Amino acid sequence: MNRRDMIKGSLVAFVAITATPILADTVAIKAPKIVVVGGGWAGLSLVRNIKEDIPNAKVTLIEKRDHFVSCPASNSWLFDLVDLEFLTHSYIEAANNHGYDFIQATATGLDSKKDILKTTVGDIEYDYLVFATGIEYDYHEQTKGDMKLAKTLHDNYPPAFIPGSEHLTLKRKIQNFKGGNFIITVPSGNYRCLPAPYERACLLADHFKTNNIKGKVYLLDENNSITIKEEGFKTAFNKLYKDHLEYITSAKILKYDLKNKIVETEFDTISFEDASFYPNVKAPKLLEDLGLTTKTAYNRVEANIDHLTYKFKGLDNVYGCGDIRPMGFSKSGNTAYTEGQNLSKMIANTIKGKTLKWESPTTLCISLVSIKPQQEISLISEYKYGKNGETQFDSTFTDEKWKSNGLGENKAQFHWAQSMYDKMFYM
Ligand SMILES: Cc1cc2nc3c(=O)[nH]c(=O)nc-3n(C[C@H](O)[C@H](O)[C@H](O)COP(=O)(O)OP(=O)(O)OC[C@H]3O[C@@H](n4cnc5c(N)ncnc54)[C@H](O)[C@@H]3O)c2cc1C
Repeated sequence: MNRRDMIKGSLVAFVAITATPILADTVAIKAPKIVVVGGGWAGLSLVRNIKEDIPNAKVTLIEKRDHFVSCPASNSWLFDLVDLEFLTHSYIEAANNHGYDFIQATATGLDSKKDILKTTVGDIEYDYLVFATGIEYDYHEQTKGDMKLAKTLHDNYPPAFIPGSEHLTLKRKIQNFKGGNFIITVPSGNYRCLPAPYERACLLADHFKTNNIKGKVYLLDENNSITIKEEGFKTAFNKLYKDHLEYITSAKILKYDLKNKIVETEFDTISFEDASFYPNVKAPKLLEDLGLTTKTAYNRVEANIDHLTYKFKGLDNVYGCGDIRPMGFSKSGNTAYTEGQNLSKMIANTIKGKTLKWESPTTLCISLVSIKPQQEISLISEYKYGKNGETQFDSTFTDEKWKSNGLGENKAQFHWAQSMYDKMFYM
């Protein structure tokens, strides 16, 4: 049976058969119940690593989707560089390989006094609970609270920054595009995957150029400069896509005329044939409803966690990690995965009665800027906290590379993605 068959045959709720637990530590620890909500990059890292750190723990992953679809490398899928199978993986297989339980359900509530998580398949008890529930879109600033406009923008011009049908819609738009202006927007603040809108714009411009489509990408950036890998993307825009990409900074859309397909910024009026509008992001509404969020520097709703312990403020055994965090780390998969590793160690040490100092997650991020030859720019970075607790790049670890020799294919992004899928699902 191949991976796809396993996914098709998935049950609504599945409990993996776990091997008899072996207690690695010399101190006998009562088997703790650890529940993780959200099977994304942070959650999958946590459940895998906590089983290694505390082998006798009863670890349960709660995820609303029946299979995993990767956002990293999805821009490559939009342009047929990888197929859907590369991005799609089975929670059942991951749970089986790593010895935790998987329940397909949506978390709906919390009784933190009784240590009970409420879900669509019933109550689940925990000793330690982690919310790793990713982001939701926040159209408030873009639409000034007009919910009808927000829905139309989302349904007709999807951002494709949360996995699922939005990506399919965007791919069809690209495939059916005959010419004219294609708008891509970049929101302000700390949005999910800082380089992804620039990478997507490059690949779309490359697609127009290679296939002689009389199209132009209008990349409207709400920020006053490229938010990450600035030198690399600027080089790509100027050297590779002069005729096919127009990059405009401080370009917040103030008016959408969707009937006539025109948008207005403070300085420009731009007509478009098609578009993908990316709004701000926030922590999921569930956390807001549970009173577990706070408003951060950019007035964004994010998890109200302590930046050193990942504990929700006021709760001693409930943690938050991944893109929901308020810290200024890059909202990226590698960051979420390594943060999951660190938090796993912290929870394990708490269980063992020890403490562990905060460690920085690692942002490792490789963006494609052209398809043939496949050229990439990469960045690796760690973080530190300033005196007032603000997040800073730790320059000792920050390194940006622009590989533009054009001599061959750089496939680092695919190798990185495959190695991460291996860790999360197979090894
Ligand atoms: C186009 C694109 C390209 C990207 N490229 C890269 C890249 O090259 N490298 C990189 O490092 N990162 C990249 N990223 C960013 C990366 O995808 C995210 O940062 C990462 O997915 C964050 O992980 P997470 O676990 O916090 O959230 P997610 O991966 O979104 O996982 C959250 C999970 O929680 C589940 N969930 C939410 N609410 C509930 C609930 N109530 N009950 C049950 N389940 C729930 C969701 O279904 C989801 O599976 C890219 C993103 C995009 C969109």
